Amino acid sequence: MTIPFNRLQMLGDEAKYIEQALANSHLMGDGGFTRKCHALLEELLGVRRALLTTSCTHALEMAGLLLDLQPGDEVIVPSFTFVSTANAFALRGARPVFADVRPDTLNLDERKLEALITERTRLIVPVHYAGVGCEMDAIMDIATRRGVAVVEDNAHGLFGHYRGRALGTFGTFSTLSFHETKNVSCGEGGALLINDAHHAERAEIIREKGTNRSRFFRGMVDKYTWVDIGSSYVMSDLLAAFLYGQLREHERIQARRRALWDTYHQELSAWATAQGVAQPHVPAHCEQAYHMYYLLMPSLEARTRFIQQLRQQGINAVFHYLPLHSSEMGRKFGGEVGACPVTEDVSDRLVRLPFYSTMTEAEQSTVLSAVRDFRC
Ligand SMILES: *Cc1c(COP(=O)(O)O)cnc(C)c1O
Repeated sequence: MTIPFNRLQMLGDEAKYIEQALANSHLMGDGGFTRKCHALLEELLGVRRALLTTSCTHALEMAGLLLDLQPGDEVIVPSFTFVSTANAFALRGARPVFADVRPDTLNLDERKLEALITERTRLIVPVHYAGVGCEMDAIMDIATRRGVAVVEDNAHGLFGHYRGRALGTFGTFSTLSFHETKNVSCGEGGALLINDAHHAERAEIIREKGTNRSRFFRGMVDKYTWVDIGSSYVMSDLLAAFLYGQLREHERIQARRRALWDTYHQELSAWATAQGVAQPHVPAHCEQAYHMYYLLMPSLEARTRFIQQLRQQGINAVFHYLPLHSSEMGRKFGGEVGACPVTEDVSDRLVRLPFYSTMTEAEQSTVLSAVRDFRC
């Protein structure tokens, strides 16, 4: 039996909605399925506006455009994240400033945040790693006091909560990813969530190539024209149809992921303690989004052997982010090896186990016994 790291899930209605989209004979963006997805996201999360985009990366780029980031502005990002968290703002000429992460949740360490703020700091971008909320009370407090905006990169945290409040509702904006590897997907896609309503109109313009076409479609202007800078960030309604099939089933997806996560956590706890392996930490005030299951091995050497040993049994376990601050590009922005010691350490030791909502009990048992056979 081969067990992949991730497998595309089909919940059942995706093909039906795609057929309906085809029958509408319009596949461009902002059609019926896009509007259904917008309404569902707004209702489920309580955000002012949700706009589907071509990717989470593009939603982050939109946030950079909406905040008018300028060359020389500084944007604080965790070093332990996907490149887009930093790159989307570097594209505006802003300089990413890399923050280390907490050793327990691997989220941006709010205790180290204030020391990184200068008079050039415009933005903080927390990432809710693995779908566990960052310490948003402290982050929002620092941001408000220092007059800095917050954009949540919530690619992992859809349907997670921090102190009872949905992740993605704290920042001026937040972004979602519907990439195939995320909890809810349409292959490639994303969303910009807008919590501050006065940005909504400009967001529509930037998303529609700098035109007021969205207002035109709603009959609010009688022709549409070029009014601002912008780009092409609208998702095709064909993908939105697929996405709608998944979003509607979010409770089923989350319940299945929760069961798989809890099984991994319980069934590996004795082995992990005996082997000096750390399991994920979820603070009591965080209702997590069950995006992944990871382990922190005692050393890089143990992780390398672990991944190899599982692979020999057909099981695909994978490591995760390489630190951004010490990457080729990160060093051009002033990042230095040693500057984010926790990120450097966990990046070497973290391994993600196969985790997808269509994983069967037999598949998970196979993974569990293979893991428990491993000796650090
Ligand atoms: C997946 C991911 C992204 C990028 O998402 P795309 O939709 O592929 O652009 C950005 N940030 C984080 C933290 C991610 O995990």
